[in-house]
Amino acid sequence: MSETPSTDPKSIVVIGAGIVGIASALFLQRDGHKVTVLDPRGIGEAASFGNAGTIATTSCVPTARPDILKRVPKMLMDPTGPLSIRWSYLPRLAPWLIDLVRNSTPERILANAQAKTALLNHAMAAYNELIAESDAEDMVVRNGILQLYETDASFNASARERALMQACGHKLDILPGQEIRQMEPALATGFKHAVYLENHATIKHPGDLTKRFAALFDSKGGVFAREQVTGLSKNGSAWAVSTDKGSHVADRVVVAAGAWSREGARMLGIRMLLDTERGYHVMVPQPDPALKRPVLLGDHSVFLVPMAHGMRVTSGVELGGLELPPDYRRIRAMVPFAKRVLPHLDETEMSAWMGFRPSTPDTRPILGESPGAEGVFFATGGSHIGMTLGPIMGKITADLVAGRDHGFDLEPYRPDRW
Ligand SMILES: Cc1cc2nc3c(=O)[nH]c(=O)nc-3n(C[C@H](O)[C@H](O)[C@H](O)COP(=O)(O)OP(=O)(O)OC[C@H]3O[C@@H](n4cnc5c(N)ncnc54)[C@H](O)[C@@H]3O)c2cc1C
Repeated sequence: MSETPSTDPKSIVVIGAGIVGIASALFLQRDGHKVTVLDPRGIGEAASFGNAGTIATTSCVPTARPDILKRVPKMLMDPTGPLSIRWSYLPRLAPWLIDLVRNSTPERILANAQAKTALLNHAMAAYNELIAESDAEDMVVRNGILQLYETDASFNASARERALMQACGHKLDILPGQEIRQMEPALATGFKHAVYLENHATIKHPGDLTKRFAALFDSKGGVFAREQVTGLSKNGSAWAVSTDKGSHVADRVVVAAGAWSREGARMLGIRMLLDTERGYHVMVPQPDPALKRPVLLGDHSVFLVPMAHGMRVTSGVELGGLELPPDYRRIRAMVPFAKRVLPHLDETEMSAWMGFRPSTPDTRPILGESPGAEGVFFATGGSHIGMTLGPIMGKITADLVAGRDHGFDLEPYRPDRW
């Protein structure tokens, strides 16, 4: 992005202070705009707080796939499986689920993976710009991740995912069993296969990195207010943004409200199939010896991530909307699996968390100007890779606001594609 301030500075309200909102605010600020970020929760306190923290530059494989759909009944029956549904939410989720099934044809799978890859290929460079500018290199570890498999069967079952990643041009290395413990001496023995994704990086604390970026925004005169947006309406050539505490007038509005962004779409009369895949983590103490990088136990979809304040154990998806209370039983049941990976793990729970991935059925983000509402831009729908895509989505949003050529085909991410 050019460092030259835009010749036409505007007042801009960004709704949401997650990674997408804060990254958007920073890139917009570079263009000389006067930017205000609104969020009732604080900075980086929602999905951008509790995720697994991987900058997952090769994670292009969509959720909607025939092999996954075939396994759904089995996954739902298994109390430690990677998928659960809160049945009372099912009627509201039905249109999203139907679209998910529609997206499981081979053609759509490839198109969705390619659409994500187009953004993923630029994700690290956009991060690096913000990391350098906010002097945050100490918050990132750049040594890849390992996916582990205990059996030939589970390794072979994930062959199609690897083929898709390779078809999209992503690099992965398959390690023979004996090399696995050379890379990670803390691991248990007995893993038969591992996939090494060298180009992934890990954020030591995703919420704190979002806050570090926000500190840069603040130091350059950006305004943050703890306000919840309740309405959006046209006010001449500007937009009136109503909140629980008052109102703001803005030339441009960016809706980066994560899984809540569909409320913004509703205010503008747009049908948006954005829902949430709820996710959980528990924090346990850092084992000694520690893991050097995140490991995914492919057989059970358990992800162990060494972080600044301990080991984060994350897993799976719960379909249950934004309102139902958390149910920590499943994530707590995963901790013994983590012990299978790391025999020295202390299973004492330090904290437990639940958050809301902003998820679309085609797993493509939502990015672009809102049709019929000139001057309102959506930047959301990052699903499982929203932490990774935050900076590149923010950068493209700033380009859109400036009317600059961003070099991307944004058709796959249209906010009104449903
Ligand atoms: C368990 C788990 C593990 C994950 N692991 C990874 C990973 O390893 N790598 C990766 O890339 N991604 C991962 N993700 C996904 C990632 O966390 C999300 O996609 C990403 O954080 C979304 O960022 P966001 O800024 O869009 O939303 P959020 O971080 O949720 O922020 C949205 C903000 O909008 C605010 N808001 C909502 N409504 C309003 C309103 N009306 N007015 C004002 N503000 C409002 C909210 O308060 C919130 O702070 C994971 C997610 C989970 C749950």
